[in-house]
Amino acid sequence: MTKKSKARKSVKQAKKTAAKAAEKAQKTVRKATAAAAEGAKRGKKGKTTKADDTQPKIETFARPINDNLLQHVVVVRQFSRTFPTSNVWLLHDGNEAALIDAGFGDDLSIEERRKFFEGDGSNFNVGTIAFTHHHFDHTSGGRRLRELLRANTAINPIDEALLHTPIDPSVSGNDDLPDDKELAERAAVWRDEAFNTPIDVPLMDGETFKVGGLTVRAVHTPGHTAGHNCYFVEETLTLFTGDNVLGVGTSAIGPPPNGDMQAYLDSLVRMRELQSKLFAPGHGPTISATDAKIQELIDHRATRDRQIIDLIDHGYATDRQIRRALYPEIQRGLRRAASGQVRAHLARMVGQGIVRVDETDEGKTWSVALTK
Ligand SMILES: [Zn+2]
Repeated sequence: MTKKSKARKSVKQAKKTAAKAAEKAQKTVRKATAAAAEGAKRGKKGKTTKADDTQPKIETFARPINDNLLQHVVVVRQFSRTFPTSNVWLLHDGNEAALIDAGFGDDLSIEERRKFFEGDGSNFNVGTIAFTHHHFDHTSGGRRLRELLRANTAINPIDEALLHTPIDPSVSGNDDLPDDKELAERAAVWRDEAFNTPIDVPLMDGETFKVGGLTVRAVHTPGHTAGHNCYFVEETLTLFTGDNVLGVGTSAIGPPPNGDMQAYLDSLVRMRELQSKLFAPGHGPTISATDAKIQELIDHRATRDRQIIDLIDHGYATDRQIRRALYPEIQRGLRRAASGQVRAHLARMVGQGIVRVDETDEGKTWSVALTK
């Protein structure tokens, strides 16, 4: 047997072992989670009894997607009950691995990940934790996972700056909190953890890192945030889409300076050009019909543009009136995000000269008028 084929064989073997371990891990994690939930119910003390009445119930799954990919999710209660919790993707080749995003940084979430990496995921050597963007549902687990796994953190430099800019919870579009004290407290922890995440490696557009034999390329795809990166695995044609493409629903694009609708649409086109076989999104399940998904998102935005123009034409003059017409049923905690969407569309159309904006002194409402 040649050296090369031996090496290939051992890589294959390692892959098999990893896949098996992932499968086993999934079962174990499910069991552990069920036991923790059960323990919490009975109020028993023990190592799986992290959850109690004062803490939210947790649900964890580690789902192997293919020979190189595992989805690790610790479900936490957040702003919307129907919106899936952020994904942590484990990309692996043999024993070498990387995390794409780090999820939430509260004790419960970190504990669940620690259990995985000290148990059935212990054969993975995680070299890199690459963040798609700076929002705390993707980064706040980063500081502690970096220590636990002795991994290097990486992010686009634009979002590194945003990550390390203190956020005012009253103005940030990402902190659209309902009146919920417990959730507000946990969000404060997430914010602190994200802010205190050290970054080891800046990843600009086109820069790469290796995971075993795999090459992962950063693709700068702004829109959701200014320094949003997708990560493209050249050998498997998998694209980690961050929050630009989600497994469920459409992503929130805020108005400038946080979001940019035109940049987002340009990013979608750029993502489509990569001709990925699989999208691994920031939230929700993987997507294999990648082209159709991109088209669906582009069409969705075009429809919204037309609806907004139509409303303005019918005398809806402020972004609040437009938001109420577009999202009549929206729950309270998501209103600000919805208004942000509307303003993001308006800002783009203002930029194109389709819509005119008059700012008044009375607070944040704008009056909008068609110029053509
Ligand atoms: Zn997110």
